[in-house]
Amino acid sequence: MTRIFSGIQPSGELHIGNYLGAVKNWVALQKEHETLFSIVNYHAITIPYAPADLRQRTREMAISLMAAGVDPSKAILFVQADVPEHAELQWLLNTITPLGELERQVQFKDKAGRQEQVMAGLLNYPVLQAADILLYRADQVPVGEDQIQHLELSRVVARNWNSRFSPDAPYFPEPQPRLTQTRRIVGLDGQAKMSKSLNNTIGLLEEPAAIWEKLKPVPTDPKRLRRTDPGEPNDCPIIYPLHRAFSPPETVKLVEDNCRGAKWGCIDCKKALLETMVAELTPIRERAAELKDDPSLVKDALASGAVRARKIARDTMSTVKERMGLDAIE
Ligand code: SF4
Repeated sequence: MTRIFSGIQPSGELHIGNYLGAVKNWVALQKEHETLFSIVNYHAITIPYAPADLRQRTREMAISLMAAGVDPSKAILFVQADVPEHAELQWLLNTITPLGELERQVQFKDKAGRQEQVMAGLLNYPVLQAADILLYRADQVPVGEDQIQHLELSRVVARNWNSRFSPDAPYFPEPQPRLTQTRRIVGLDGQAKMSKSLNNTIGLLEEPAAIWEKLKPVPTDPKRLRRTDPGEPNDCPIIYPLHRAFSPPETVKLVEDNCRGAKWGCIDCKKALLETMVAELTPIRERAAELKDDPSLVKDALASGAVRARKIARDTMSTVKERMGLDAIE
C-alpha cells in the first residue's frame, strides 16, 4: 500500500483555504492509503514565536483537523515534536546535504529577507522536511506547486544518503510528488492566496453570521456595476471559485447562467453560496465544539498517533544508525 506523508504548520484553527487546498484531500487519501499527517511544530520555531501561543495553535490545529474529518483510526495523526526522531534524523541528513542546495531554496530567500537576524534553523528547514518524509520512508507527498522545490531537495537527500550508505539496495525511496487536484483559494481581498498573515481568510469554524459579514463586501466581476449588467463568472475572483468548491454542480450551473444572463444580483449569488458553505461547514463546527468540550479526545488521539508514528520512526533510525556506524558498540 502506498505510504503518504504530509505536514501542516500549527497555525491555529484552519481556514477554508487550508481546508480546500490540503485537508479535504487528506480526508480522501486516508481512506485508500497508509497516511501519516503531522502538525509540524518543529518547523514553526524557525521564526520568532511565543511558546504559549505555539502550544495553543498546535491544539487548535489538531481540533480543526479532526473536526474536518481526519480520522485517527485511519490516518496516523501526530505532533512532530512528540516523535523526536525527526530532529535526530535531520542532524544525520545535515551531514550529507550540500550547503549550496539550501541557499538556493526560494522560500529561504523570501523568509530570510524578512528577518533581522537569520537563524541556522531557517536555512536547514528543508532538511527537516526531508527527515519528516524519509523517517517514514514515504512513497508520496501531496504537494502544492510552491513546495515542489522542497520535495526535490528531499529526493536529492535520499539519493545522497542511499549512494553513500546503501549503494546496493536503496534504503530510502525517493519520495514522489502527488499532484492531486488541490484548489488555490484566493483571499477575501481578491489579491493573494488566502493566508492568516494577510488577514484575508474565512475560518473553517466561523459562525454563519460571521461568514456572511465577510462575504457581503468581497469584490465580484467589476463589469457588474448594476444588477442588469451581465457578468462573467471566470472574472469573479472569490465568489465563483468558492461556489465551485462548495456548491453542487446544479448550483454552479445556475450561478453561471444567472451571472451571464444578469438574472440575479451578486448579493443573491453570495446568499446562495452562504447556504452551501453553511451546509458543509456546520457539521465540522459542531464536531469541533465536541472536541473542545472534551480535551481528552484530542489529547488521546495525538498520543496514540505519536506511538504509532514512533514505532515506524524507531525502526528507520535503527537501520540508519547501523548503516552509518552509529549503533551501539558490541
Ligand atoms: S453573479 Fe455571482 S459569479 Fe457573477 S459576478 Fe456576481 S458574485 Fe460573481
